[in-house]
Amino acid sequence: MSRMPPLLRLLLSAVAILAAAGVRAEGRLPRSEPVPGGVFVAALHAAPIPPRVTYNGRRVLVVGNERNWYAVVGIPLDARPGKATLVVYEPGRAHTVRFRIRPHHYPTQRITLKNRRMVTPTPEQLQRINRELTRIHSDLRHWSPALHVDVAFRTPLAGALTSPFGARRILNGKPRKPHSGIDIAAPAGTPIRAPAGGTVLDTGDYYFNGKTVFIDHGRGLVTMYCHLSRIDVHRDQRVKGGQIIGRVGRTGRVTGPNLHWGVSLDGALVNPLLFLPKPAVAALRDRDRSARSVSTPTRNSPVAP
Ligand SMILES: [Zn+2]
Repeated sequence: MSRMPPLLRLLLSAVAILAAAGVRAEGRLPRSEPVPGGVFVAALHAAPIPPRVTYNGRRVLVVGNERNWYAVVGIPLDARPGKATLVVYEPGRAHTVRFRIRPHHYPTQRITLKNRRMVTPTPEQLQRINRELTRIHSDLRHWSPALHVDVAFRTPLAGALTSPFGARRILNGKPRKPHSGIDIAAPAGTPIRAPAGGTVLDTGDYYFNGKTVFIDHGRGLVTMYCHLSRIDVHRDQRVKGGQIIGRVGRTGRVTGPNLHWGVSLDGALVNPLLFLPKPAVAALRDRDRSARSVSTPTRNSPVAP
């Protein structure tokens, strides 16, 4: 290397740095945060094929390659803090991986909705809501085999994080379920992009969630996009990371245009921010701060169920 012309040396080191960055970007894992609504990432043994892993009897997403396998465990929001166990099945043997679910405090968010039927629906509306919930839950628990699952997500859109994951919701004074996704506010019509490759599992128009798209990324990883003004994909369509799937809207239960983004690991809805690089998370938070600083005290932040 020392006899190389300086320019060539510089070029070669630039190529090496880019290659290393590429490897890291492709192999980026979700941040391990073993709390209710979080993700626990466990390194597993090298093996020619991914081992089967279960948590409370349910299948766990395993990603990586024959040198490094990782279990990506979704911890439900209602999980109790304390001891937890994974069962790892390898050819000829099974062993356990123990971990601890740490307690986590989520903030309380009080929201005022003008349409009281979005807080206390009629019996007929409740029937519709329950029918839709069955379908939504089945979509969120969808499991499909996949050779490669891309867990290195990119942000679906540049917006402001207006409602965090896990917030305890009080709608018009009535306690409701905690927030099982994040809300990103942006002007209506802003394109929403797939955070990684996958297949469109389902689309629909629901009472609370409005126009919605589900993407199946494989092996139990499903993402959900709600309140869209327009859906730009159809069921069974393959999508690439970065491809437009729809536009920001205000359909369903909202107070302004925003995207409700949900991430499910075999039915456990977990914090989507754990799948994004830290600078992307900081950008979502910064945009919210700048939006707050110019708003009036009566600003009603856009929300979703
Ligand atoms: Zn929401």
